[in-house]
Amino acid sequence: MTLQLHNTLTKKLETFTPQREGKVSLYTCGPTVYNYLHVGNWAAYIYWDILVRTLLANGYDVERVMNITDVGHLTSDADDGEDKLEKGARREGKTAWQVAEMYSEDFLAGMEKLGLLLPEHITRATEFIPQQLELVRILKEKGVTYQINDGIYFDTSKFPSYADFAGLDLAAQKAGARVEFNTDKRNPSDFALWKFTPANEKRDMEWETPDDLLELPQPDDSDEKIMGFPGWHLECSAMSMSILGPTLDIHTGGIDHIPVHHTNEIAQSESASGQQFSRYWLHNNHLKSDGTKISKSLGNGYTLQDLAERDYSPLDYRLFVLQSQYSSESNFTFDNLSAAKNRRYHWRNIAALRHQTHDTLTDDSDKAITLLATSQAIVEALNNNLNTPEALRIVDQAFSKFDGKSLGDIHQHGLVRVLETIDEILGLQLIGTTPDIDDETKQLIIKRQRARDDKKWKESDQIRDQIAAMGIVVKDTNGGTIWEYADDAA
Ligand code: AMP
Ligand code: ZN
Repeated sequence: MTLQLHNTLTKKLETFTPQREGKVSLYTCGPTVYNYLHVGNWAAYIYWDILVRTLLANGYDVERVMNITDVGHLTSDADDGEDKLEKGARREGKTAWQVAEMYSEDFLAGMEKLGLLLPEHITRATEFIPQQLELVRILKEKGVTYQINDGIYFDTSKFPSYADFAGLDLAAQKAGARVEFNTDKRNPSDFALWKFTPANEKRDMEWETPDDLLELPQPDDSDEKIMGFPGWHLECSAMSMSILGPTLDIHTGGIDHIPVHHTNEIAQSESASGQQFSRYWLHNNHLKSDGTKISKSLGNGYTLQDLAERDYSPLDYRLFVLQSQYSSESNFTFDNLSAAKNRRYHWRNIAALRHQTHDTLTDDSDKAITLLATSQAIVEALNNNLNTPEALRIVDQAFSKFDGKSLGDIHQHGLVRVLETIDEILGLQLIGTTPDIDDETKQLIIKRQRARDDKKWKESDQIRDQIAAMGIVVKDTNGGTIWEYADDAA
């Protein structure tokens, strides 16, 4: 069983092999923390969580870095827009530092709610300013940078394979660039490594530009320092290379990052190190919302809070996302989310059967084997380019075997094993969200059963209502009486 991943670099499905046996270095482009994340952003992080879980299931040690962009992400790819953080700060009457802190906290809280594994390193761009400046220094020494009035830029014509990763048509870019704002750039695709704070402006986030990075250093007697801040692409290269080394095993991000952000990361990293930056590149396709692109003006960029207000839990959303493979476009609607919520509710009630059954003394190994095969089949589905919809289908298929079974026929140990696997690999917390009922409720169920055995229907119905008030539904099935959770929220 080998892990196959679609590599954007080669545009092929490839068998994954890391550089060092048993160890995987992984970098995930993180969020820009100027606002709450919307469902599309979260989909990306859910998919990369599945990638990590799949690597772990294949026995790899994973070391992952994920950045938090808390400075320098401009509102335009042409490097002439505003910094998203400073803009967010003005919108909210706060400083950029306060905005970054608030939305970083919200991001970390959201990760926990969605059951996302924490990367070994979560790094903020503002905490890696020296490493970013050092990278500019190396690039300057290699002769691939130049300075214009608003900053220090990377000269993309000095990186011959610049167009390859995204299949860019640089000639067409040049032809279309006449209307471009920043005419000082040598090539339209050149990008800012370090931007200068405009004269007479004070930013919340700015750092001194070291003299040796400037082409025309300031006179010694000048105490007017040129202040500046990093361009957005620089942080990912600086953080990943300083923590994980020059060559990553896997780098992930959204498809929107391919033509600019990742292309630029490759150009600057490989120019600096002289080595391949990442061996595998994985990109998640976009989630649409109500059939259209997610955009502020359409009001369709729902947040986790919006979902909670409509009684959808983060885990319902997680299951919704897994219903599509990361590489295909998907669509968010509340109807689709409701379908995922129902599916999870059904699965939770299957998980609750483990509290209602026992291992028989004569262990029926056939049943245990079927469930074990399920665990393997889930991993195999994920090994096929993270085919999560197939993994979910396998879970449905395994759980359908419980339909109409009497409790005595359910192999408790096997069920627990398969639930553990599902939780470990798909992170759905089926065990964590399905507590046993308390003794009082259990006694009531027994009492009701006795009333039924004695054909005391009225009493039995009364007890059923009493149990329902405790949030538990008693069902009389062909296979005997079972209980389920009354509430589909958990
Ligand atoms: P940003 O904070 O804008 O850098 O975006 C954070 C992450 O969300 C990036 O990896 C984007 O590629 C990803 N992303 C943004 N919009 C969507 C979407 N509609 N569907 C899936 N991923 C998205
Ligand atoms: Zn990045």
